Amino acid sequence: MSGTMPSKAVLDTLSLIVGPNEVLTKKEDLLTYAFDGTAVLNTLPGCVVFPRTTAQVAAILKYANEQKIPVITRGSGTGLSGGSVPDLDCIVLCTVRFNQILEVDAKNLTLMAEPGVITLKIAESAEAVGLFYPPDPGSMRISTIGGNIAENSGGLRGLKYGVTRDYVMGLEIVTATGDIIWMGNKCVKDVAGYSLKDVFIGSEGTLAVITKVLLKLIPKPKTKKTLLAVFDRMDAAAETVSAIIENKIIPCTLEFLDKITIKCVEDYAKIGLPLDAEAVLLMETDGHPAVVEEEAKQMEQIARQHGARAVSVAQSNEEALKLASARRTAFSALARVNPTTILEDATVPRSELAKMVNFIQDVGVRYKLKIGTFGHMGDGNLHPTFLTDEKNHEEMERVEKAMVEIFEFAVKLGGTITGEHGVGLAKKPYLENAIGKLNVEVMRQLKKAFDPNHILNPGKIFDK
Ligand SMILES: Cc1cc2nc3c(=O)[nH]c(=O)nc-3n(C[C@H](O)[C@H](O)[C@H](O)COP(=O)(O)OP(=O)(O)OC[C@H]3O[C@@H](n4cnc5c(N)ncnc54)[C@H](O)[C@@H]3O)c2cc1C
Repeated sequence: MSGTMPSKAVLDTLSLIVGPNEVLTKKEDLLTYAFDGTAVLNTLPGCVVFPRTTAQVAAILKYANEQKIPVITRGSGTGLSGGSVPDLDCIVLCTVRFNQILEVDAKNLTLMAEPGVITLKIAESAEAVGLFYPPDPGSMRISTIGGNIAENSGGLRGLKYGVTRDYVMGLEIVTATGDIIWMGNKCVKDVAGYSLKDVFIGSEGTLAVITKVLLKLIPKPKTKKTLLAVFDRMDAAAETVSAIIENKIIPCTLEFLDKITIKCVEDYAKIGLPLDAEAVLLMETDGHPAVVEEEAKQMEQIARQHGARAVSVAQSNEEALKLASARRTAFSALARVNPTTILEDATVPRSELAKMVNFIQDVGVRYKLKIGTFGHMGDGNLHPTFLTDEKNHEEMERVEKAMVEIFEFAVKLGGTITGEHGVGLAKKPYLENAIGKLNVEVMRQLKKAFDPNHILNPGKIFDK
């Protein structure tokens, strides 16, 4: 991690645009912006700027483009693929002070917000008027809505309600050259031209900076039931998930924790999970009370038929929250165990889940590695998490080989190398194998069209 300051002229210009209190340049301040949630990757930026308006973002980008200075857009830096890890001497454009909810429109079921609003605040603002914003990444207490859209984040309710993309009705973006473009509207239907906003959702800060978002809200489900099923075999949990889907039930949540994760969560949060279990499955159904009652019964039955040794149903909201927190704390709990935590994101069609979880276990044994696996099982989205130590070079080589095998197997099963964390720096070496040369080439052409000088997140997704 090293770097030199941008020139005085650059810093003076940035201070003129956003004000001197909105620019960080001291090394001790910059250190916290050198990394995101991804293990091992870090680079010291040249400076950090905190714009509060679209006009300021446009002025920063126009100037950076003229000077060909790399700009790394950053929300809260919780990303897990190195998306907001700086380029040496770059400008980090951090959106956390650009963070107002602009409108909740109950007539049109929409919410308009600035990019730095924390995801939880979006959900709470919707709830305050009896509405619902479903995407709930595990990081929702700290992540920003701009970061969620840039990564097309999923969450614990993705199975039934979809991911962030499904709730974006409009976007304001600023291109690398400083042009401000609005796309989308409050209409339920609109086919005027290409669906351009979709190009920017999941573009990981490589095409533009998102400066305003128009989100779709839906009515809040009337009720919810939370169940926890305990298994002595991990593949039995995976088979339960496949069977629930096959039985045409779409629960709002089907999350799982394996034995290593259960132990870490218990040590960390003391929820009362069974330490001798091989896997637990968190299941939630929501909607009309009659449907919820029926689905909960069916899920319990299916889990038992597939070998669950116990199924408990939360008797109160507090108990449901406690069970859900077992899943929400999984990453933090695993991260306490070893110095380095590498969280992966392999995703497969749901029919292939049992094969994938068995394969991950086998890889862990063969490479003598500690891998805790948890994740959005109902989406086929698994998070095999390597508990390791980056200073142990020999072990890191084994981690690398194990990762390659896991990604290759996921692709072979018809899956993908990342279900929700994005490519960034971490998955770049595996992208071409997963999606093919031609797809990567089309993406390169898009990048060239929107960012001709490669100033936005250069080197992310594909090489500079
Ligand atoms: C404990 C934990 C749990 C998590 N759980 C989930 C989960 O359940 N589901 C999931 O999908 N992810 C999850 N994540 C990953 C992460 O939280 C998401 O990717 C999140 O959307 C990142 O938001 P952020 O504000 O932290 O963005 P950052 O990490 O700051 O940035 C992420 C990417 O978006 C770009 N970006 C940020 N803001 C903008 C903007 N305004 N315009 C253009 N580009 C922008 C950045 O350049 C970068 O490429 C988890 C992470 C942690 C640490």
